Amino acid sequence: MTGIVEEFLGLKEGSDADILAMQVGDFYEFFADDARLVADELDLKMSEKSSHGSSYPMAGVPLSELTPYLKSLVERGYTVAVAEQRGEDDTTREITRTATPGTLLEATGADARYLVAVVRDGETYGLAAVDVTTGTFRLTEVDEERTALAELGRFSPEEVLPGPTLRGDDDFCDAVRDDTDATLSVHGTEAFAPGKATHRVREQFGEGALDAVGVEPEGPGTRAAGAALDYVAETGVGVLSSLTRVQPYRADDHVALDPTTRRNLELTETMRGERAGSLAATLDHTVTSMGARRLEAWLVRPLQRRAELERRHDCVDALASDALEHDAIRETLDGAADLERLAARATSGSADPAALKRIVDTLERLPVLRERVTSSPSLADSPLGDVLARVDAEAAADLREMVDDALADDPGSETGIFARGYDGELDELAAEHDDLVAWFDTLAERVKAESDLSRVTVDRNKTDGYYLQVGHSQTDRVPEAYREVKTLKNSKRYRSAELDEKERALFRLEEERAARERELFDELRAEVASHASLLQDAGRALAELDALASFAEHASANRWTRPELRDDRALDVAAGRHPVVEQTVEFVPNDARFGEGRRFLVVTGPNMSGKSTYMRQTALIVLLAQAGSFVPAESAEIGLVDGVYTRVGALDELAQGRSTFMVEMQELSNILHSATEDSLVVLDEVGRGTASDDGISIAWAATEYLHNEVRAKTLFATHYHELTDLAERLEGVQNVHVTADERDGDVTFLRTVADGPADRSYGIHVADLAGVPDPVVSRSRDVLAKLRADEAVDVRGGSGGSEQVVFDLGSGELRTDEEEHGEDAADEGGDESQETLDPETEAVLDELRHTDVNNSSPLDLLQRVNEWQNRLD
Ligand code: ADP
Ligand code: MG
Repeated sequence: MTGIVEEFLGLKEGSDADILAMQVGDFYEFFADDARLVADELDLKMSEKSSHGSSYPMAGVPLSELTPYLKSLVERGYTVAVAEQRGEDDTTREITRTATPGTLLEATGADARYLVAVVRDGETYGLAAVDVTTGTFRLTEVDEERTALAELGRFSPEEVLPGPTLRGDDDFCDAVRDDTDATLSVHGTEAFAPGKATHRVREQFGEGALDAVGVEPEGPGTRAAGAALDYVAETGVGVLSSLTRVQPYRADDHVALDPTTRRNLELTETMRGERAGSLAATLDHTVTSMGARRLEAWLVRPLQRRAELERRHDCVDALASDALEHDAIRETLDGAADLERLAARATSGSADPAALKRIVDTLERLPVLRERVTSSPSLADSPLGDVLARVDAEAAADLREMVDDALADDPGSETGIFARGYDGELDELAAEHDDLVAWFDTLAERVKAESDLSRVTVDRNKTDGYYLQVGHSQTDRVPEAYREVKTLKNSKRYRSAELDEKERALFRLEEERAARERELFDELRAEVASHASLLQDAGRALAELDALASFAEHASANRWTRPELRDDRALDVAAGRHPVVEQTVEFVPNDARFGEGRRFLVVTGPNMSGKSTYMRQTALIVLLAQAGSFVPAESAEIGLVDGVYTRVGALDELAQGRSTFMVEMQELSNILHSATEDSLVVLDEVGRGTASDDGISIAWAATEYLHNEVRAKTLFATHYHELTDLAERLEGVQNVHVTADERDGDVTFLRTVADGPADRSYGIHVADLAGVPDPVVSRSRDVLAKLRADEAVDVRGGSGGSEQVVFDLGSGELRTDEEEHGEDAADEGGDESQETLDPETEAVLDELRHTDVNNSSPLDLLQRVNEWQNRLD
């Protein structure tokens, strides 16, 4: 026979998991490297185990405590195989499941946990996303890598299974790592094979499933789905049968939102990676975890379909206009259990009696909610009723009644689970058991009555079983049938033959009763599991109701209005606010008007005046409307967009270690490729990451391209004032500026957006506000005045880059350096003077332009201004 450690190492070798937990009696043990790793990660104590002359590190956790350890390990990205004892005498061990980040059923918290399999086939990508904790299975095919990555990112997956051709694709894998926190796992190539995968999908969802879903057999979508199913099966998590249906979707049903845009708009987390302060956190007033998940899914997947959106708006409208019923509905939902998750637990066999009780308690709320909706006139007229009508009311009531009749009022976890009358055999066992317990309970009284003993107790403990306990003063009065079993300091313990026998009977009954309860409970749980899809329907209906009620709650509390959706390219927001910023500051509302001759707004204004906020609020209002929510505005007409694209701020990307400017350009390129006439584009300081002449050139050309070719509605905040001239040249470009008031050298931000370009930079005033010493501030003014006088005739930055493009203010033309130095350079620019600055002044000017006053400390600015002065002298 091999030793425990050898067995462990053997099992480990046959498994792909990072860590093995092997059952040894009442413990799960880790040995060798695994013990070291686990001890390190989880702060477990390590000991030594010797086996066959060698000594191995060992760590262990009690059987009942595996779950939290498993969770922590998996949440740190490890896969953990679990080997359990099997067979009569527990001598064989086998791996019964492998916990991986994407299949962790034990997960708590409201968040969805997706495993996504991705297959590339030519230019087509198939994505299958499974959340085993809720039984959700989504499937789509898309045409381009960046769409595939965008879709993948929207799931915020825990784990990604790249198909065979993607596994070696470093660009793809790196992009997945950048955009998500997912673990990338390798799953056998055969699982992705067209034939095997197609078979798997048909086996799981039925022969006609693929037709219904609209993907080709053996195509990339099918292969991804098959591989995902195979992986879930292999991990042994035991939830396959709760995956009752595939929900296919077309990526273009949703508003395109790439990972950068989601991040920039802080939809589900802030730039700093926190949930608090995100749009989702601000809007979330849900009272169930199903509702919270649904709300978040709506926010990251705004829709393009007007009918569905108007349905949601109708519901929100109805709820918001009947405060009383709205509150009552939320109260009824409050505390409802997560039916989607419980369905998965019932299926995997991990639901306990309390979980089934919670199902009963939650199903009970369905008729109450239905009644509330139908009895209120405003709600009854809304599509809210349809939400609940999607659940088979009769089947739900039957299931509820069946489980409710079975369970005791307060079911124990191992015994006392069932109500009297549920099972004759169990009742009999229970009655006999109760009789015996009563026999023991009254034993002391009987002994007292039948003997001279006046002080005697009957008790039970682990080692001695039941016994009679008598103080030393009365031991001589103990009846003859009793024999002494133990002597203590003050008393002695006794048992009799009858007691022995009754105790044996009692233990036997306890065992029989527990076995019967286990058996019945397994049956009951299996019965509940067979209704998984009913529970999922009910869960989805409650989730939707909760999310809609949350929208209504936020709309009422913050005076949001119902947007008017349109099929044209309108965008007209009156007195819009930023949904998150308005929570913390006295917000100055602003209009955002697009229309004929006004599809591209160049936004200028001093630093800190509110440009970025204004642009983001506009994008968020559109997204909220297309998520089905009301919006923070007095009124809003919104032509449905097919995508929102943002490129905001260059500084934040520094942390990622990629060249900031490279990233900026990659994203710009992505926008120029992807956006359409139906998109909304937000550009914030694009071109800032390079020398000013490069930057202006790129900004200028991007503007022209967006305006002439893409024709998307665009907001472009820029510190390149030269761009404001574009309004005169391009029919769809208009200038707006965020106003600020300057009096006595102080700046007051008015935060109102008005038409026309802004006055020049207020950087120095901000420096003043920031406490830069007076002499420096006033000297800066002098310098700036001088620089401006010079700049008026030449906007070129310093020399240097190879792409010498000259921007001609007069004509708005871009010319190469060669042309500039050509013979007729002087004629081209009209009033362009040939006066040039010396290179040092140009360099100072350029640095001044690029000084980010916002993000500099007063001391830093002081030093810089000082240095400029020295260089100019
Ligand atoms: P910019 O992009 O012009 O530098 P931001 O948009 O970053 O300016 O705004 C700076 C600060 O001003 C924000 O943090 C916000 O708190 C505040 N702010 C912006 N817009 C408004 C507004 N409309 N009403 C009130 N405060 C605002
Ligand atoms: Mg800004």
